[in-house]
Amino acid sequence: MTSVAGKSAGQTSLLLAGTDAAPVHESNAAGASPFLFTCDHFGRLLPKKLGDLGLPERELVRHIAWDIGIAGVAERIALLCDAHLVAQRYSRLVIDCNRPPGVASSIPRLSEATVIPGNEALSAEEIATRRREVFDPYHSRIDAVIDERLQQRRPTVLVSLHSFTPVYAGVTRPWHIGTLYHRDTTLPPLLLRALRAEGDLVVGDNEPYAVSDLTDYTIPVHGEARGLVNTGIEIRQDLIEDQSGQQQWAERLARILMEIGALLQAENKI
Ligand SMILES: [Zn+2]
Repeated sequence: MTSVAGKSAGQTSLLLAGTDAAPVHESNAAGASPFLFTCDHFGRLLPKKLGDLGLPERELVRHIAWDIGIAGVAERIALLCDAHLVAQRYSRLVIDCNRPPGVASSIPRLSEATVIPGNEALSAEEIATRRREVFDPYHSRIDAVIDERLQQRRPTVLVSLHSFTPVYAGVTRPWHIGTLYHRDTTLPPLLLRALRAEGDLVVGDNEPYAVSDLTDYTIPVHGEARGLVNTGIEIRQDLIEDQSGQQQWAERLARILMEIGALLQAENKI
């Protein structure tokens, strides 16, 4: 496991102090799999300088702060597939790593029905600092990993891992799992077919979210713009709250993805 510091040489940190964790978490960087897993909402750390963002603890453990359960799935699936995982340790309430910087939901002042006091009235410098110290190191690292893989002519399939809350704004969501995608026409149909063939799943096709250039960052920038076969996966949070659920879902998805990966390689699609 390696970590990448959030600062480049000579740059003074205005947000992360020496006792704060580095933003980027990686597992199994030497993994031989064609799959490259990313996890934008893996952690819910807050830089000490930001305190609690003016929120009670009960809000900071909710889905508005991170993707509940996905960290446990991501770690396990990376090991099971022998794949590299690149993940963000800081809460999406600091800066959302799956939003284009500058959009309203990048540093949200409101998430679901919760006002985030620590995100109100930020100066341009405070906004730039969050981007420079949390968002940029994560996406620079994904960029560098993809650069290296392409240079080495290694087949690469980008899979962005997320989880979704079972009830949003009072509306219950029926899906167990969903694929989310936009321009890729290779992987999402194969994944949808495989998930539906499981027989016991309610599968969302671009549900509960679809990817767009305005509401997403990782898939458009690292998947589509780099020409990689890609998809996002969303798992319902109540299914992966505990370790046994995380293990079951990691095993199921690893089996499905490795079959698809073998097919894509056999057909020279990656
Ligand atoms: Zn997410």
